Amino acid sequence: MNDVYSFDYLIIGGGAAGCIVARRLAEELPHTRVALIEAGKSDENDPSATLLSRLDDQNDSYDWGYQAKTVRHLPHSLSYSRARMLGGCANHNDCAFIAPHPSDLDRWESLGARGWNSDTLADALSRVENRLYIEPSPRGNELSQAFIDGNIELGLPQREFRRSIESGTGWFPLNVRGDFRQSSSIAYLHPLEQIPENLSVFTEVSVQQLIFDEMTVIGVRTDNGIFKSQIETVLCAGAINTPQLLMLSGVGPVSHLNEIGISVVHELPGVGENLIDHVAANVCFELKSPAPPWALTPCESTSLIKVDSSSQTPDVLFHFVMRLREKYAGQKQFEGISHGVKLSPNVARPKSRGTVKLVSSDPTMAPEIDLNYLSDPEGYDRRILLGGLQFARRLTTTEALSPYLKREVLPGNDIQSDEALLDYIEQTCETVYHPCGTCAMGAENNPNAVVSPDLRVKGIHGLRIADASVFPDMVPVNICNTVMMVAERAVDVISGKEY
Ligand SMILES: Cc1cc2nc3c(=O)[nH]c(=O)nc-3n(C[C@H](O)[C@H](O)[C@H](O)COP(=O)(O)OP(=O)(O)OC[C@H]3O[C@@H](n4cnc5c(N)ncnc54)[C@H](O)[C@@H]3O)c2cc1C
Repeated sequence: MNDVYSFDYLIIGGGAAGCIVARRLAEELPHTRVALIEAGKSDENDPSATLLSRLDDQNDSYDWGYQAKTVRHLPHSLSYSRARMLGGCANHNDCAFIAPHPSDLDRWESLGARGWNSDTLADALSRVENRLYIEPSPRGNELSQAFIDGNIELGLPQREFRRSIESGTGWFPLNVRGDFRQSSSIAYLHPLEQIPENLSVFTEVSVQQLIFDEMTVIGVRTDNGIFKSQIETVLCAGAINTPQLLMLSGVGPVSHLNEIGISVVHELPGVGENLIDHVAANVCFELKSPAPPWALTPCESTSLIKVDSSSQTPDVLFHFVMRLREKYAGQKQFEGISHGVKLSPNVARPKSRGTVKLVSSDPTMAPEIDLNYLSDPEGYDRRILLGGLQFARRLTTTEALSPYLKREVLPGNDIQSDEALLDYIEQTCETVYHPCGTCAMGAENNPNAVVSPDLRVKGIHGLRIADASVFPDMVPVNICNTVMMVAERAVDVISGKEY
């Protein structure tokens, strides 16, 4: 417990972003010493961590086991899976690997994230793609094909989704190699015994607090001793734990820190605010016979559609999932159904914003995650999800898909009017596990921005953030690809090559 370690750079959290930042920083700055500190276990030589067939299971030792509240005025909460292992949620996820539309990245720059645009991020993505294997989903599954054909029947073109998404339907590109994920730990760190000499990886070490010398971060306190940073500490603990760590260290909204009894080091009202997530609602069907076995994941095919006439690019992202699982405690609708499918539209650019807050100054206590879905005052998110559900129902009547379907389980035939559907959406909406924005990047003069475009935490020296929490706004696709781009570009910024 009294051990003290000293490095030039500390990277906190070895997830999708952290593994990239650590490896690439060690390569770019070979005369510095970099330490990556991860709370969970190593994933190396552990197929139970890295096999794509091990999809998230909150009961396993690789998960933080969080719960999140969905709609603020309802009592509902759902399992909010967050990986706790080297590789982070990139070892937990379904490996759908899609780059956002360039206009969405250009929007980041227009929101004050100077230098973060489709050109600079495309360059970063090229470097990610040089390290990762990316393959289209295997194309043999006739049910996934029927979903794609149904979309084509409704007028969508078939596309190869990789970069520059447009409306259309097709197979997900996957960051996989054989049966294994191509997470950033696997692509950037394995084998661990061959990482650069100036990089040290610590697993099963949980960071509890930042250590300050006045307004400069000089290290972190962990459950396994003190780690000092001679140059900088970079938080990569993800969109839930990065704001949690800042608040535990006295950086955040003053009224909340006072409420929890934490001494304020620096007021930053945006910490833990602005939580954005892709909110989904489902049309669930029982199948006439078991789904044909999928090759790698139950979610192989997708479509991107526009349901709002004012949208320039797709506003709904679909997941077609060839199994049914309950997400809410107490949910019982799927009992007795042995094979089913879920057509799951989500709001690609949600406008609602939630929060991450502390419940205690104890670093081992889970934070309170309030997704605050469907809360935007214009009702945009509700309108888009309603359009998505209506499109999903049309899909189920297509010549391609309908022969496989036995009966609608959810919402159910008695739920038809817009009002009834909106009520159903509110009661059952769920997550696609894409939290971001809780330490948003923005212009220096934006009081709600937590980091400036050089990723420095505003008002504090020696501290940056590089993970999903810095997204200035949501991207309209599965976000891991964008997280990895952010991490690659973060290295350019931190090492002084760019900005
Ligand atoms: C079930 C699931 C399915 C998903 N499917 C997809 C998909 O198919 N495609 C896609 O693009 N995206 C998907 N995502 C989202 C994507 O994986 C995440 O957005 C991405 O991994 C976030 O990267 P990150 O680096 O910000 O955080 P993470 O990858 O979560 O990494 C954070 C790391 O920090 C560690 N950490 C946290 N606190 C501490 C601490 N106090 N001390 C030390 N370490 C700490 C954590 O253990 C973790 O390893 C999915 C996510 C989940 C959970």
